[in-house]
Amino acid sequence: MFSNKEKFKAAFLRKLESMYGKSFQESTPRDHYHTLGNMVREYISANWIATNERNRAADEKQVYYLSIEFLLGRLLGSNLLNLGIQEVVEEGLKELGLDFSAIEEIEADAGLGNGGLGRLAACFLDSLASLDLPGHGCGIRYKHGLFDQKFVDGYQVELPEQWLRHGNVWEVRKPDQAVEINFWGKVESYIEDGKEKFRHAKGEAITAVPYDMPVVGYQTDTVNMLRLWSAEPAPFPTNKDIMQYKRDTEAVSEFLYPDDTHDEGKILRLKQQYFLVAASIGSIIRSYRKKNGSLIDFHKKVTIHINDTHPVLAIPELMRILLDEENMSWEQAWEITSHTISYTNHTTLSEALEKWPTNIFQPLLPRIYMIVEEINERFCADLWKKYPGQWSRIEDMAILAHGLVKMAHLAVVGSFSVNGVAKIHTEILKNREMRLFYEAFPDKFNNKTNGITHRRWLLKANPQLTSLIQDTIGHGWMKDTTQLRQLDVYANDSAFLEKLDQVKRERKQILGERIRKQTGIVIDSDSIFDVQVKRLHAYKRQLLNVFHIMYLYNRLKEDSSFDIHPRTFIFGAKASPGYYYAKRVIKLINSLADKVNNDPAINGRLKVIFLENYRVSLAEDIFPAADVSEQISTASKEASGTGNMKFMMNGALTIGTLDGANIEIKEEVGEENMFIFGLTAEQVLNYYQNGGYRSSEYYHHDKRIQQVLEQLINGFFPDVDDHFEPIHDSLLMQNDEYFVLKDFASYIDAQERVDAAYRNRNHWLRMSAKNIAHSGFFSSDRTIRQYANEIWGLEPSYSKR
Ligand SMILES: *Cc1c(COP(=O)(O)O)cnc(C)c1O
Repeated sequence: MFSNKEKFKAAFLRKLESMYGKSFQESTPRDHYHTLGNMVREYISANWIATNERNRAADEKQVYYLSIEFLLGRLLGSNLLNLGIQEVVEEGLKELGLDFSAIEEIEADAGLGNGGLGRLAACFLDSLASLDLPGHGCGIRYKHGLFDQKFVDGYQVELPEQWLRHGNVWEVRKPDQAVEINFWGKVESYIEDGKEKFRHAKGEAITAVPYDMPVVGYQTDTVNMLRLWSAEPAPFPTNKDIMQYKRDTEAVSEFLYPDDTHDEGKILRLKQQYFLVAASIGSIIRSYRKKNGSLIDFHKKVTIHINDTHPVLAIPELMRILLDEENMSWEQAWEITSHTISYTNHTTLSEALEKWPTNIFQPLLPRIYMIVEEINERFCADLWKKYPGQWSRIEDMAILAHGLVKMAHLAVVGSFSVNGVAKIHTEILKNREMRLFYEAFPDKFNNKTNGITHRRWLLKANPQLTSLIQDTIGHGWMKDTTQLRQLDVYANDSAFLEKLDQVKRERKQILGERIRKQTGIVIDSDSIFDVQVKRLHAYKRQLLNVFHIMYLYNRLKEDSSFDIHPRTFIFGAKASPGYYYAKRVIKLINSLADKVNNDPAINGRLKVIFLENYRVSLAEDIFPAADVSEQISTASKEASGTGNMKFMMNGALTIGTLDGANIEIKEEVGEENMFIFGLTAEQVLNYYQNGGYRSSEYYHHDKRIQQVLEQLINGFFPDVDDHFEPIHDSLLMQNDEYFVLKDFASYIDAQERVDAAYRNRNHWLRMSAKNIAHSGFFSSDRTIRQYANEIWGLEPSYSKR
């Protein structure tokens, strides 16, 4: 049905009629989206069935990627791209008088994630399938994804997200593969064959129902699976009032927790975590048993990868099944479990490290808690043998201590691999945050620098740049991004740079038009598009960016000869609803935008745009239009970052600290093709350890800092009363935990270098070309190959098209 335009058009009209009983003339864009979506899903299903059958028949190891978040975005465009039927569809629709991009806009983003961690999981699925690897996602089918953000008077307001309102064309509900999950209740012991055994009894059961989504590889027959679990009432009697029971049950998969890098500590969150783990492992084991019978060789055929500690209960849950259902000895169960699980750490921020109070954990998951206790006891006994008499070392490493379950400790102890997500992050893990574990198990630790799928973030998001690259070096790079290096020689080719300039110009106009429609503000396409899009967080230092803009504004007001190339500052950021500090920064950016955009004296030389509701589909229009990529976190705080990679691949130049993957961007493209500033991670960590930073000194000695800090509280921003006072106080009274004032001068200096570099258009374009040419390392295909070879022990096994 997609082999040529004529067949496609006929099939589309037939499908439209059969689905809606409407004539083409009466049909709406939504009808067109659902018709096309259903056609594509059906088209995928033949290969999906074939891949599943291959997996069942073959003896290849399977990887299951467990993640509490999958930030997928829209799927129609990426599925068409990967299937290679984009052109047929677009042209066929055109001949029917329909515009593909309008149809694409109908699809709601699958926003089942907060930010980087969830987006990484989505990029990994795309790479796994595209590399023909048998790797599948397991997650939660939240009824409401990350909240929709609106600004009211410049303040963030959250609305429940509703991605399922019109149904989800990509999913297939599989009620016959549901899994029962038990909470609460108690552990009963009994004797069987002369052996003491345990079972979880008198609990409250809920049913996990899988919804499967196909994950289509790029130009391959492989279609993997993303299995998302929905919580529903179980068909068993309960003591509870039935309406209460139904509400409690459905709450488990109702909302995504909107907290990024912060541990909530709420019981519903722990329920979600066990729900994900028990459902996923239940179904993995069911299909494994069907094929293999015994679980003796489970770890040789299955790897379960946990994306951060949220799914770490996979460890005691797998132990529970092997002990209680398979009757294995502890030693044998542990051997299998600890060779099945691999773990990625995503942060060293202490507020993000999960620690569950035992008085919440134990009653909710009594048998799992018992198993964690025994894991801890045996682990501490082993440590005692290894480090006799070293009480405090053992106490620091224990899984259970001071009434808390330390999830990261459980993850390290129960897994065969622990990886960080960028070189510097892994080094900080090994030498600081997890030093004791690294000393005890050096071989477990390894680095896997994050990546992004170039298919979504370049091929799909930026067809203009894709065409230019293809016209210049062919298409080999689409399957092997290291070949982007062939662009290197064109960085000195003025004809190429001219075309690169045209592409960027066109993408800036597209974004400018979107901004005009959404905000009414007209921006100058010849200005520098200086972009910071990411979650709002103190450590990401949107505030430093704001202070630079305030400084420029002040200079322009004071000094009529102050000359800058016009700049448009573009922000996108959601703040966690309970993160009051971050919400004040949102209001500050909006207040600054009002001030700057409406001041005739500025005469359009500065514009500040804060786009509402930053999400994947909006991001796809932002990255291609960016000139400058703001990656300005306090060094040591950003584990990797992946936004930095999307910018680079689209030819934006990075202004950034030596943090996360910025360091590896520098290694790839060279310091001369970016703008580095600020404290190093080592300097920051030394300040934390030894003290010696006094923010007030920077306030007193730098008039520019004094002025912007005063403006937070002196009425410069009308109608906010003392709303920005806590920001002001955090920088002075609380000694500026994130070194905003310390890095201010160095940042301004780097921004002056940006301004100067941009004025030399050819020089800038050459640097832009270099960034694209050296971005290949950051494809998630490279990352996934490393996971497959170095952690999972996978071979690409599927037939190639
Ligand atoms: C890539 C991405 C992120 C992560 O951005 P960072 O700058 O690495 O924090 C967050 N949200 C969305 C929608 C993204 O596409």
